Amino acid sequence: MRKVEEAEAVVLGAGVAGLTAAWLLKERGLRVRVVAQSLGEASRVPVALVNPLRGKRFTLARKGEEALEAALRFYSRFVSLHLGVYRPVPKGEREKVAARLGGLKHSWEGEGVLLEEAFWLEPRPLLERLAEGLSLQRARVLAWEPPYLALEGGGRVRGEVLVYAGGGQGAHLLGLPGRYIPGLVLTLLDYFPRAISYRVYLAGSVLGGSYLPHQGTPEAPPPTEGEAEWLLQGAEALLGYRPKVASAWRGMRFRLDGPTLPGGMEPPGRGIPYLFPVEGGFALTGLGSTGFLYAPWLGERLLSALGW
Ligand SMILES: Cc1cc2nc3c(=O)[nH]c(=O)nc-3n(C[C@H](O)[C@H](O)[C@H](O)COP(=O)(O)OP(=O)(O)OC[C@H]3O[C@@H](n4cnc5c(N)ncnc54)[C@H](O)[C@@H]3O)c2cc1C
Repeated sequence: MRKVEEAEAVVLGAGVAGLTAAWLLKERGLRVRVVAQSLGEASRVPVALVNPLRGKRFTLARKGEEALEAALRFYSRFVSLHLGVYRPVPKGEREKVAARLGGLKHSWEGEGVLLEEAFWLEPRPLLERLAEGLSLQRARVLAWEPPYLALEGGGRVRGEVLVYAGGGQGAHLLGLPGRYIPGLVLTLLDYFPRAISYRVYLAGSVLGGSYLPHQGTPEAPPPTEGEAEWLLQGAEALLGYRPKVASAWRGMRFRLDGPTLPGGMEPPGRGIPYLFPVEGGFALTGLGSTGFLYAPWLGERLLSALGW
């Protein structure tokens, strides 16, 4: 008979969602164990922007101000945050954009707006720091069988509460319906201490912001020249020159098909569909391109949902 490991809370997944939730649970005094086959998947993106003012339309993300505050509070304990995201605003749209800023701290500079408390960070050191303070078991989960996770090789882990934070790779374990959106990030020889974002973004030594049409499976397609060219054109429009490329990183965003969550699951996150009850606990997933913005805020919501 294989040994069964036990903890009060068992988190499946060591990306930004799982590690953040695990830290917050641990700080409430719980015995927490994280089980994951690798340290993040989508969360291994070379640079993450934490920017609540989304897209070309400058839409303020739901609960964006609260999420940004929670993100500042949490991540600043582990890594340096590079504050300030500059968003060029197209001519004639200043009034419209000004009306969308909500309570975000900002200042107008030249042809754009500087979001003073939005920031970028390097996810990989963040994941490592978070993992250092947690009990992390490297294993592949084959089945979600509350109160157990069944592992490859025959072992099991038992949790009074199970938290699914397995991103797109593990979504099949719970039958979560979703879509996978490939994106490409180019690393550059240049360095941009302050992030600039319009259509594409430049932050640190990366250029990102590409979205391929969504697909139904998590397998990543290879990077294409068309995507790289689109990114470089976007960078040229912002900078007036083409930055030189060092390498390319392909990642897959995962979004849930919200209204069709299995078993009529209801999100407790006040209209944010990334945190919802599942058999044996909660799922915290489907964060699309906003995982780093929402993970700390959702982790706090998880504590409330659990009554801890
Ligand atoms: C190109 C690109 C650029 C992005 N840029 C940004 C950005 O600038 N800002 C931002 O906020 N977000 C950005 N994102 C989105 C962000 O990366 C994701 O929202 C976030 O990383 C999702 O985190 P997660 O913890 O849910 O999942 P993941 O990071 O995918 O982690 C999943 C975890 O579950 C584990 N796992 C899965 N299945 C199993 C299994 N069967 N057994 C064991 N372990 C398992 C994996 O090993 C991993 O540890 C970007 C994404 C991409 C692809």
